[in-house]
Amino acid sequence: MDSRQQRVAKNEALFRRVNERIEEINETLAGDSESDFLCECGNDDCTSPVSLTLAEYEEVRRDPTHFLIAHGHEVVDVERVIRETDRYAVVKKFGGEAKRIAVETDPRS
Ligand SMILES: [Zn+2]
Repeated sequence: MDSRQQRVAKNEALFRRVNERIEEINETLAGDSESDFLCECGNDDCTSPVSLTLAEYEEVRRDPTHFLIAHGHEVVDVERVIRETDRYAVVKKFGGEAKRIAVETDPRS
């Protein structure tokens, strides 16, 4: 795995941590209202907001190799889109190293 792929994986892990905090802060809100999370794509300059309910966010977090992104922000050589809605997309990491980083940095494991 080259350093770019590693950087992508680490950037995604960082934004996942930020989103975990956003969820904590919004946990007191009504269950079906949407909160602004941040795109977890591999681009360090991306701060696109993505709107999800807490239940939708929980669904993404259930698998440590799944990440939440804005449409079109997938990095095709390390992940593929597995789910799309009108507001956001979910990608799954593939490949040994990218997947390993995703799992090891999971704040819930
Ligand atoms: Zn993005």
